Amino acid sequence: MIPAQTYDIAIIGAGASGLQLLYELIQADPSHEKKILLIDSGDRSTKSWCFWEDKNASCFPFLVEKSWHSMTYRTSTGETIESPINPLQYNYISSDRFFDYFFNEFIPSNPNITHILGKATEIHEGGDLHSVICEDASSFYAKRVADSRPLKSDDPTLIFQHFSGKFIEFEQPILDETSMTLMDFSLPASTEEMAVFHYILPFSKTKALIETTVFTRLAYNKEAYERIWQDYIETHYSSQKFKILSNETGTIPMGGTTQKKEGRVFSIGASGGNMKASTGYAFTRMHEDAKNRVLNLSKKKPKRFRFYDKMLLKIMQKEMIKIPAVMDRLFSRVQTPHILRFLDDKSSLVDDIKLLSQLDIPLFIKHLLR
Ligand SMILES: Cc1cc2nc3c(=O)[nH]c(=O)nc-3n(C[C@H](O)[C@H](O)[C@H](O)COP(=O)(O)OP(=O)(O)OC[C@H]3O[C@@H](n4cnc5c(N)ncnc54)[C@H](O)[C@@H]3O)c2cc1C
Repeated sequence: MIPAQTYDIAIIGAGASGLQLLYELIQADPSHEKKILLIDSGDRSTKSWCFWEDKNASCFPFLVEKSWHSMTYRTSTGETIESPINPLQYNYISSDRFFDYFFNEFIPSNPNITHILGKATEIHEGGDLHSVICEDASSFYAKRVADSRPLKSDDPTLIFQHFSGKFIEFEQPILDETSMTLMDFSLPASTEEMAVFHYILPFSKTKALIETTVFTRLAYNKEAYERIWQDYIETHYSSQKFKILSNETGTIPMGGTTQKKEGRVFSIGASGGNMKASTGYAFTRMHEDAKNRVLNLSKKKPKRFRFYDKMLLKIMQKEMIKIPAVMDRLFSRVQTPHILRFLDDKSSLVDDIKLLSQLDIPLFIKHLLR
């Protein structure tokens, strides 16, 4: 017997990937023929979603609040490398704006979407119909299920990227709002166990997000990151008065927490393998994944990118203290747009060879042989 209420697709999780998939499903079905169920547990935190892409690319341009055409890298010895990133640009979308658009505009204007608050606990795969069971014992049936629930890992070698940032407003117009800082390793806060850098998004001459970012195997250490953030501010903005507008904290597990499930019940989002493990960037990857799924395209990236990623992660796992030097060398010797294409898995093999040849070859060979 077919249950009374069945859906063409159920999406578990209304986060970045679930909503991007929802968006693409509606673009492909403007006459609202498909019934879509969106189940979300409501566990949302504030995030700044940033990504680089070509100026004419199309990852939610109407939600982008600020774009930068220049990027700064500051080495561990304090040298500043500022570079235009033409033809790319670095875009910022706040999660507040993203969720506001989806929950207050997009979902209400598409009557074929049913949005429910609930925690999915089980998915039972059937023949043509699969059931999703929620914590309160309610169940839903759908022909396809997209699952973005985060996975937990007990892998002791797993590296995390921890963030401890603040949106601040200076009294004086002291910021260069035309260039964002991808990594600033100038504060000597890195140790054997953690590589520390600062990430700065200047939204105007007075307002910025300044974020302490830490690669480590250790647990999140709020007090330590707070002290590092204060040190950074005292070092770079000692005479400036500012007020704190809001905080942004979070953790990205780098690799090890994915389970790529395919078929009619499939995984999406970070847990579906759409996050670049060595960088934590996922937003445009999830968008590409959503588009490909809706168009039934199977786009496999060359395996070499996964290999590079594993190599970088291995170096982080085994030689954390060398990360600032590895990054310094990379940004000093290779043009920033080439690095960005490489990190985005969009570089050619020739470009990869050129880039890799600029790195600390013995260090990479050592980990290759391991
Ligand atoms: C602080 C932070 C900053 C980041 N910044 C960037 C960035 O600048 N650029 C970038 O590319 N990437 C960034 N990322 C990485 C990545 O883009 C985000 O983690 C992104 O939110 C992942 O999308 P997702 O859909 O996989 O997970 P989420 O966005 O976390 O969505 C998962 C959703 O599932 C729901 N859920 C969980 N369990 C259940 C359940 N059992 N039943 C129903 N619903 C459930 C949750 O409520 C949530 O809404 C950042 C990550 C963090 C943590």
